Amino acid sequence: MTTRFENGIVVTLGEKNRVLWNATVVTDGELVTAVGDSAEMKRRFPEAESVDCSGQIVLPGFICAHHHFYSTMARGMSIPGEPAANFVQILERLWWKVDRALLEEDILLSAQLPLIDCIRNGTTTVIDHHASPSMRDGSLDLIEKAVRQAGIRASLCYEVSDRNTPGGGVEENERFIKKVGKGDGQIAAMMGLHASFTLSDVTLEQCVVIARDAGVGCHIHVAEDAADREDSLAKYNLPTVKRLDKLGLTGEKSIFVHCVHIDDSEMDILASTKTTVVHNPESNMNNAVGVTPLLKLLKKGVLVGLGTDGMGSDMLAQMRCAYLLHRLANHDPRVAFLEAPQLLLQNNARIAERQFGLRLGEISEGRPADLAILDYQPPTPLSEANFLGHLIFGLVDATVDTTVCRGKILMKGKKIISMDEERLAARSRALVPQMWKRLQELH
Ligand SMILES: [Zn+2]
Repeated sequence: MTTRFENGIVVTLGEKNRVLWNATVVTDGELVTAVGDSAEMKRRFPEAESVDCSGQIVLPGFICAHHHFYSTMARGMSIPGEPAANFVQILERLWWKVDRALLEEDILLSAQLPLIDCIRNGTTTVIDHHASPSMRDGSLDLIEKAVRQAGIRASLCYEVSDRNTPGGGVEENERFIKKVGKGDGQIAAMMGLHASFTLSDVTLEQCVVIARDAGVGCHIHVAEDAADREDSLAKYNLPTVKRLDKLGLTGEKSIFVHCVHIDDSEMDILASTKTTVVHNPESNMNNAVGVTPLLKLLKKGVLVGLGTDGMGSDMLAQMRCAYLLHRLANHDPRVAFLEAPQLLLQNNARIAERQFGLRLGEISEGRPADLAILDYQPPTPLSEANFLGHLIFGLVDATVDTTVCRGKILMKGKKIISMDEERLAARSRALVPQMWKRLQELH
């Protein structure tokens, strides 16, 4: 089916970003077939279905380079005992219980609801990291089912860790990686791993062999807290990135999440091995773990993307958080204006290309038809020259009206089309008390 998304302001992004007023994006099947002046597009594609985008801005769908759908049911939960005083306690008292309390239907709903949130926020591609030790085998199939239902794209993996069972999750990843194969453009697979401090050399080596043979990357938390670095130094006499590099986890397809506590020589390894780093500013601030040396990483040529780490699915909010954090952390109001949008708009597209083999993040002929259409009436002139100012100070607060992925309209007029949000949220609220009860009984 051919569709004209017409009469909006189209921001193409890509290497040569264009801001086109009164413009139309024409999609056919899963791809964009033309972009240009609305009157001309109407003449060229008179038969196409029309979606009026007056008063709106059309952007490529957003990409989240690190998410945890499984964290959904922790929202609003009370944690008994003293508040966690550090990162390891946050894991022990919260996340390492949340994951163990999840059963089959919880996993499905825990994916369905944030997927709806992704659609609400115009996020059309997600790289997720899942954990559910009590219902591990087959868990990635449940999430895949939810992703296909939602209609967005996702790269999935299971978080291998030795903390419950040695090598727990290796088989689930291996099975799913084989099942997905080269992927169909909607679902991709990675080898997921928790973090250096919960993984033995034996388990890491096992994961690397599987990932290498399948041609996929490793998706692992790295030096999120100083505890991960200290553990690696104490046990292996190497800082975290060096330990993981020695075991073969670095590489173009691998994603090292966080990299807060790393030194210059580790940054050089990330750059020379072309390993991707994903920065999650809201999560780092929430867990009070420190500040990723973002500007230095970028200067050294490391590809750094942006994720939410399960904090939410709103990538524009995350981008502005990165912008604010690095201004404050560097005590310099001249920095991060270019860098924060670069992570979201350019670098996440490059990361997604490595996972999906698709050139996302640009609206142009032949590119995938993934669109985020937001209500936006610019109060000042808007062009290529000042787009970032509008992005950081205006679009970040604009509401997404329509979301399109793979050419399909998933939300229109702020109404989710592909999923029944009311029913799923009600079911989740009904199910959560049992999950919370199971969690309270865990030691
Ligand atoms: Zn994470």
